[in-house]
Amino acid sequence: MTDARTWLDQVDARTNAMPGPWEVRDREIRDRDNLVVGTILRPANAEHIAAARTDLPAATKKLRAVLDLHAPRPYDAIRDGVAFGQTDYPDLCCECRSTYPCPTITALEDA
Ligand SMILES: [Zn+2]
Repeated sequence: MTDARTWLDQVDARTNAMPGPWEVRDREIRDRDNLVVGTILRPANAEHIAAARTDLPAATKKLRAVLDLHAPRPYDAIRDGVAFGQTDYPDLCCECRSTYPCPTITALEDA
């Protein structure tokens, strides 16, 4: 799978290509310029699709916050310690200090 930040960039680019927010009027979804984005027969579907234009950027922003929190940092022998015979110094997660990618990043990228 594409790494999480690349995927978020792709999602944001697709989202930002469409003027938002969207709203529903008489089963039509309209963008901020009042242009019709689509006509939907079920009102609940129209509300869901219109809300996605606002919800999706909020979700990508929250995922980026998690990625920023669990960012990699170089191994620091003084700060992180060195075990006898240790020859591998992998990057660590800033937040949970696990070997990078930490379980949080792995879960995000595998989802
Ligand atoms: Zn982490």
